Amino acid sequence: MACGSPSALQDRFGRRITYVRLSLTDRCDMRCRYCMAEDMTFLPRADILSLEEFARLARGLVARGVTRLRLTGGEPLVRRGVTDLAKDIGAMIGHGLDELTMTTNGARLAAHADALWDAGLRRLNISLDSRDPARFGHVTRVGQLADVLDGIAAAKARGFAIKINMVALNGINHDEITDMLAWCCAEGFDLSLIETMPLGEIGEDRTNSFYPLTTAKAELEQRFQLIPSAHQTGGPARYWAVAGTQSRLGLISPLTQNFCASCNRVRVSASGKLYMCLGHEDHLDLRAAMRSDSPGALDALLDQAMHQKPERHEFDLRRAATRRHMSVTGG
Ligand code: SAM
Repeated sequence: MACGSPSALQDRFGRRITYVRLSLTDRCDMRCRYCMAEDMTFLPRADILSLEEFARLARGLVARGVTRLRLTGGEPLVRRGVTDLAKDIGAMIGHGLDELTMTTNGARLAAHADALWDAGLRRLNISLDSRDPARFGHVTRVGQLADVLDGIAAAKARGFAIKINMVALNGINHDEITDMLAWCCAEGFDLSLIETMPLGEIGEDRTNSFYPLTTAKAELEQRFQLIPSAHQTGGPARYWAVAGTQSRLGLISPLTQNFCASCNRVRVSASGKLYMCLGHEDHLDLRAAMRSDSPGALDALLDQAMHQKPERHEFDLRRAATRRHMSVTGG
């Protein structure tokens, strides 16, 4: 950061915040059961930050020492103009920004992979909870597996490093985890397994579908040799190299393992709310600051956020930790 510029973002527990996830829209073209209720109400369009506002926000964050940005949602690829925004933000890579990435359900990736590459993205997280068409349809309610597999193939052909995100669901896909890792290894992808988190009401009890990753790991070790990896993202995942392959396994287990001590991130919703922790309601509204003429307005809110960032989440599967769904703040 340039001398004399506002200070880097550091919270009261000494954690440096260098990673921000931007949720470009709360809308999604899927309705994954663990994520959303079937009949969701989405934000009115007027409440959503414009792409220009997101681009300015990104510049303001990079000026405060944020080095990694992830575009997410909802589904980021349903936001019109997303690749223009990616290009705008991507222009900062090598000028303060180290990396721009995206989390997507992959359904529209075949159409967008080239433009995202040209914008400077090199890594994608793609959600895929099942490779069985009927199961995939059940989990996503409306998704088409073929679209996602086409998107993944297009991204692979373009040269993206791909990480598959799979939410482990008891009785739904837990018996597919081993095969999913085998497929990822064969394709040259990493795999992150995620424990279902109690975010937003979904009209059913999450304890029924919770599958502990401690169990998943024990099952994987029957077939794969997993070597603890030093790879760190500052997030809740722990990583293992899969022996004899180029692939890594990540376990995101906020319920059975807590890694808040190394948290390096905050999240911004599509309407400009800055959430300091995925598991808390507390937030600051950046939208007015983004729409004001005052150059210091955003910095003042970012400083306040550093004072308010909680030490850790308090997830309890028996109740939703937040009213908002994961689709509001992105994964
Ligand atoms: N639409 C994009 C996608 O599907 O990847 C980005 C947004 S989605 C909310 C990001 C990630 O969060 C996905 O991998 C999804 O499976 C995961 N997710 C959603 N709700 C979750 C929950 N309650 N617990 C754990 N993971 C969740």
